[in-house]
Amino acid sequence: MSSQNCRTRCIVLKNTDFGESDRIVTLYSPDHGRFTAIAKGAKRSQKRFVNKLEEFSLLDVIYRPAKYNRLHFLSEAELQEAFLSLRTHWQRYCPAILACELVLRFTREHDPDSRIFTLLHWLLHSLHNGTAHLPALVFFLLHLLDACGYQPRLKHCAACSCLPGQNKQLSFMFQPGNGSLLCPRCSGTTDLSRYSLSLQSLKFLQTAQKMTINQMQRLQMPEQVASECLFVLYSYSRYLLQCDIHSWSFLVQGIKKPISKKR
Ligand SMILES: [Zn+2]
Repeated sequence: MSSQNCRTRCIVLKNTDFGESDRIVTLYSPDHGRFTAIAKGAKRSQKRFVNKLEEFSLLDVIYRPAKYNRLHFLSEAELQEAFLSLRTHWQRYCPAILACELVLRFTREHDPDSRIFTLLHWLLHSLHNGTAHLPALVFFLLHLLDACGYQPRLKHCAACSCLPGQNKQLSFMFQPGNGSLLCPRCSGTTDLSRYSLSLQSLKFLQTAQKMTINQMQRLQMPEQVASECLFVLYSYSRYLLQCDIHSWSFLVQGIKKPISKKR
């Protein structure tokens, strides 16, 4: 192995066929962040890359860094976990591909954050093991936003600082434009349907914000609550990214939930 080569663990976020025999893969690594590499001959090779470069796969790879902003060159890949059921079960595929798209869009090339890698690995592992996908996705997105510096501010009304439940309000309005809450009095409307968070949803989000991955299994979130939380976090993410998140439509199609009505 040349001294120029890099070795790292990573997750496949995206792959695309390139030409007759090559593949381009986008990977996320705890040490190198997001990076894109070309696997020469990947479609032909029966040995080096076969069935290894699929989305969601956890790999140990060796790659040669590119010069002059060209694609890195993937030399070897060893499959650690395939998470096969994420590609064969539509209901698991939808949240998994959404999570990969969010990591792809929220991160910059070669700007590593091991928390993001750990979160994504945890989510893929949990979905593969049959964990309820909506609460897991809520937890993932909440902590991804935090890792990227966009933690939603959910403790009190951003205008008057009243606490949820303090003045007998039944729900607060989330503002996707700045990631904070407004009480019904300050928002000047009782029609909070689009971005409303019930007190129950708010409590779950506040609890989930404080939890670590290991504690997450304790969080029992009813589907209706998870759906409401997820829609609000998605709206915030979409505002931050200033673009559509394509895999969201898969999720809405794949999971017959009230989130589809709210869109
Ligand atoms: Zn207020």
